[in-house]
Amino acid sequence: MVEDNTELNDMLKKATNQVTETDPNPVHALRVDSYLDTPDRKSKTEEWQGIVIHHTGIGNRSNVNDLSLWRRLNVNIAKWLATNDNVYVSAHYQIGYEGELTQLAETDNHITYHAGKSSWWHPGLRIWKKSCNNFMIGIEILGDGNKQPFSDKQYETLSHVCRAHMQKYNIQPNMIVGHEMVSPGRKQDPGKYFDWTKLYELLYAKY
Ligand SMILES: [Zn+2]
Repeated sequence: MVEDNTELNDMLKKATNQVTETDPNPVHALRVDSYLDTPDRKSKTEEWQGIVIHHTGIGNRSNVNDLSLWRRLNVNIAKWLATNDNVYVSAHYQIGYEGELTQLAETDNHITYHAGKSSWWHPGLRIWKKSCNNFMIGIEILGDGNKQPFSDKQYETLSHVCRAHMQKYNIQPNMIVGHEMVSPGRKQDPGKYFDWTKLYELLYAKY
C-alpha cells in the first residue's frame, strides 16, 4: 500500500502545481470578446470601492430580433467610447446585446470617465465622496433601460464582470450601483427596466 500512497502524493503534488500555475487574478480570467484601447483614461491612484452600471442610451431597437443591428451598434458605440475626441466619455467595459464583452481599459491601473459629476459612499474612507470615477469601475450596457429590458445574456456577462472585480478588490454588493444613484436628478441610467433583483440573484447565487 506504500506504493499506492506515493502515487497518490505524486498526483496531489501535480494537481497542486496545476492550480498554482493558473492566474490567481479573477479579473484576468474574465472572458473578453474584444479589446479597444480608449485614450479617455488616466492612472488610478485609489483602490476600487465599487462599480457604476450605465446604459449606452442608444440601441432602442424597433425590431427585437434584429441581431445584426445590435452587433453593429455594439461595435460603433464601443469605437465612439474609444475615440480621442476631447469629449472624455469612456468606461472600462461595454456589454453587447448578446452578452459580448468589450474591454476599453484595464482595471489594474486606469480609471475611466463614465460617472461625471457624482458622489457616493466611500467605505474605505467612510465619507460621502465626490468624483466616483476615481474609485468606481464603469460598465456600459448596450441599450436604453428606460425604453426596454436588457437581455438575459447581458445580465449573465454583467454578473461575471462584477463578481470578478468583487473578488479581486473586495467590493461589497451594496457598492454595485447605477449611474442614476451616484448622479441623482442628472442621470437616469441604467433606467427603470434595469432588473436589480435579477443581477443580485446572479451575484448572490455564485459569489
Ligand atoms: Zn451613465
